[in-house]
Amino acid sequence: SHETLAGRTAVITGAASGMGAATALLLAARGARVALLARRADRLEEVAAKVTAEGGEALVVAADVTDQASVDAAAERVHTAYGEVDLVVNAAGVMLPNPVAEGRTDEWQRMLDTNVSGALRIIRAFTPDLVAAASAGRTADLVNISSIGAHIAFPNYAVYGATKAALSYLSASLRTELGPRDVRVTNIEPGLTDTELGSHIDNAELSGELDGMFDAMGSLSGDDIADLVAYTTSRPRHVNLRQLIVLPTRQA
Ligand code: NDP
Repeated sequence: SHETLAGRTAVITGAASGMGAATALLLAARGARVALLARRADRLEEVAAKVTAEGGEALVVAADVTDQASVDAAAERVHTAYGEVDLVVNAAGVMLPNPVAEGRTDEWQRMLDTNVSGALRIIRAFTPDLVAAASAGRTADLVNISSIGAHIAFPNYAVYGATKAALSYLSASLRTELGPRDVRVTNIEPGLTDTELGSHIDNAELSGELDGMFDAMGSLSGDDIADLVAYTTSRPRHVNLRQLIVLPTRQA
């Protein structure tokens, strides 16, 4: 049987699809209340409907993590509805590969603003909650979804990899500030996972190359990542499973 997450209040970014949606569904099934953040309200409503159909509790909060005012408004809505949050999952992200020599500053900016600054905006909005929950003796978790791309260089994925290396570094640094205050920081670095992430690639050749990787080595599912988030966040509060690399078995 699984450890319960009853009594926990979670904020999950990127909850409209992929890993974030799967994580929201699983944390809710284990008893957590879940606030669902992403830009597409219609998709968040679908996730929320599934949560409530299974007897769980979900709050839809349409928000853009690249926009400070949007994050401020989202945090206010979460706090008004749920009060203090004790579990934060940063899963919002975009991956837009192209050769650096193409100079796609629009893509670079979107990735930096979503994957790095977006995560920081969420961390800023909810870290006081995590610290307060921990100091009151409750379990408090920050989970960042980074990538194996933080460690391994792939041609054409330089900027994406740099944003993920930054996020992994942030997780390690934050641990030095938050660990002594009993807030756990877990950094998850997945390999190839079957989600909508690759659907925004505008370079047909690179899109085809990614499809080829899925065909050659298979992939994880959003549910596989959700399973790890539910596992780490339900350990006893003095146990921090802090760094997880998870790849499909066939990924070299
Ligand atoms: P998806 O594209 O399915 O999910 C990404 C989510 O982020 C969507 O729900 C999207 O919703 C949300 N999002 C994107 N931009 C913003 C924004 N500006 N504000 C708020 N939400 C935003 O892909 P994954 O589930 O794969 O991605 C989850 C995380 O996993 C990402 O950080 C990704 O980098 C990482 N990852 C993915 C891997 C893979 O192979 N799939 C491997 C390693 C890491 P909306 O568009 O509605 O805003």
